[in-house]
Amino acid sequence: QPQIDAQSGELIGAETLIRWLDPIHGLIPPGRFIPLAEETGLIQPIGDWVLREVCRLLCRWQAQGLRRIPIAVNLSARQFKQNNFIESITGVLAETGVEPRLIELELTESMLMKDVPQTTAKLNQLKKMGFRISIDDFGTGFSSLNYLRHFPLDVLKIDQSFVRELFDEGAALAIIESIIALARSLGMRTVAEGVETAEQRAILESSGCDILQGYLISRPLPEAEFLEWVQHYNHS
Ligand code: C2E
Ligand code: CA
Ligand code: CA
Repeated sequence: QPQIDAQSGELIGAETLIRWLDPIHGLIPPGRFIPLAEETGLIQPIGDWVLREVCRLLCRWQAQGLRRIPIAVNLSARQFKQNNFIESITGVLAETGVEPRLIELELTESMLMKDVPQTTAKLNQLKKMGFRISIDDFGTGFSSLNYLRHFPLDVLKIDQSFVRELFDEGAALAIIESIIALARSLGMRTVAEGVETAEQRAILESSGCDILQGYLISRPLPEAEFLEWVQHYNHS
């Protein structure tokens, strides 16, 4: 799914969202199988596969002379927690020769707040390797603002529930503005997720949100359709 710069409208990144194509049931959304994959441990090979596919995609785009944009990858708690996580991610990168700066790792607040010393060490290592790090669904979990300051984070992703409720209740806008202010003062950027209407876009833009993602810009697309979308996308 594309991500655009809120001010210029320019395409500046994308997020990978996995689907399972079943011969009988068609496309199965991640909400239907990721929790089970977490439970059974299958999330580890699946997560490795996603990362490898993203790297291969970036290589293909480079070979085709396309502009390479950073791609965000969702990490699951179990994947991040595994002892050899850094090794396995390093392995995939070495295999494909992709630069880590083109990969943004999305974690959730609950993943970060568990075992803070070890998490900090892992994040610092990933950051040193050149990955970008973002917090997904920000504002819905329990973040300690004190720890936020110490983690090497690049992006806060404002949860879509706040965007959805922007015009239903004043509190949603207040929360969004606070997240943007917090991110700014800590030197991070903000992504608003679930942007569906021009009204939401306008208010997010004027609130100083950096990046927009949502159906208004584009639904999540398979690679070929994504590339077609990029070709025809006329930002204004
Ligand atoms: P998420 O990371 O918060 O992803 C955003 C979800 O919102 C996606 O649902 C996306 O399709 C949907 N979305 C995007 N724009 C809009 C919009 O404008 N309106 C609405 N209503 N929804 C929008 P999706 O693709 O079903 O993914 C659900 C969750 O599954 C993701 O939530 C993420 O937590 C997880 N997931 C997806 N891919 C992966 C993966 O490769 N690995 C892991 N571990 N989790 C994944
Ligand atoms: Ca995400
Ligand atoms: Ca999210």
